[in-house]
Amino acid sequence: MPNLIAPHGNAPLKPLLLPREEREEALKRARTLKKLPLSSREVSDLFMLAMGAYSPLPGFMGAADWRGACVDMRLENGLFWPLPITLSCGEDFAVAVGDEVALTDGEGEILGILSVAEKYGIDKDLECHEIYRTNDEAHPGVAKVMAQGPVNLAGPVSVFSEGHFPETYRGLYLRPAETRALFAEKGWSTVAAFQTRNPMHRSHEFLAKAAIEVCDGVLIHQVLGALKAGDIPADVRVRSIDWLVANHFAEGRVIQAGYPIEMRYAGPREALLHALFRQNFGCSHLVVGRDHAGLGGYYGPFDAHRIFDEVGEDDLATRPLKFDDTFYCFDCGGMATGNVCFAAADGEDPLGEEDRYRAAAAVATGAAASRPCVREDDGKLRISGTRLREMFADREAIPPEYSRDGVIAILQDFYDDTA
Ligand SMILES: [Zn+2]
Repeated sequence: MPNLIAPHGNAPLKPLLLPREEREEALKRARTLKKLPLSSREVSDLFMLAMGAYSPLPGFMGAADWRGACVDMRLENGLFWPLPITLSCGEDFAVAVGDEVALTDGEGEILGILSVAEKYGIDKDLECHEIYRTNDEAHPGVAKVMAQGPVNLAGPVSVFSEGHFPETYRGLYLRPAETRALFAEKGWSTVAAFQTRNPMHRSHEFLAKAAIEVCDGVLIHQVLGALKAGDIPADVRVRSIDWLVANHFAEGRVIQAGYPIEMRYAGPREALLHALFRQNFGCSHLVVGRDHAGLGGYYGPFDAHRIFDEVGEDDLATRPLKFDDTFYCFDCGGMATGNVCFAAADGEDPLGEEDRYRAAAAVATGAAASRPCVREDDGKLRISGTRLREMFADREAIPPEYSRDGVIAILQDFYDDTA
């Protein structure tokens, strides 16, 4: 008998999307209400609430929960929660406690209704310091907090639209109740979530397979939030991952799905949130690589690993599968990680671990030029995202040690079409 992990808080899933038959009536009522346009991050959180990913939250957080999530990683009722989920408005948005407000996206589509239970101001510096470990507005997550309105509105929400997601990502947009049903159907008890917003190359394949080694199956879980320049569109990613799964994985051990979060890049705190909502999707484990959910050197390469050591299983049942940097190593003659590569284990790293990581991060963000894609001078094959895009644009041969031929072919077609 499959025995999936219970949702967070040990309570039934709490999707806030209204049943289909109640949506029209609610929308009619919402049209008569004052409208509050949400930021893209707030919309993505509303969709996460709607699908049940943030169970058991009933809506956007009040002041005590906001402070608790920031400072103690705990709601007022004691439940573990590592990041505030909040909604803001301008000082001049006239609304009183007890009012209902219609929540709209950037285009004005009404998505749901908030019953205002609380209005409060926050200390944005405190939130950024606790959550992002920086107040640098060059950090995109910090910038969004600083740009949000000065007043937070809290209260339960009911949602009647998930925007374009179910239509655009038909078959991929799976809600927690749906992934749980799929896992149960397959007889799985332990499932590892593998988070990605990229196509899967050999290093990603290696991590997913390592996860299958210790779990019944893996959920390849794509971020479907807004695309950044240079990102591969979801349909191309899905096709390339489907090809990889069909040709290089044992049958029946992989499910692909997508979800609507907008990344905050909060590093360790966000890694905890990623594990928390994976619990709601039915996943017992989360693959946590180097600098999970981080960017640009704001966090140490293993900060997102270490923070799990501070959180017990009673608070967070979904546990990390911690992985070091993964690459093809010509000295090892195969896929390797920083943990297992014997060439890296001799202790002679003239650059030093932290500096080597910063140098790699600089290449990945385009701040430094990448080295040529042949055998690297340290025997490890690494290609930055920027360099990889160049190689596709110039139709250079991508080494088979880096990516499978079918994946390369699908991506090359995409780059040829957009050239
Ligand atoms: Zn090696």
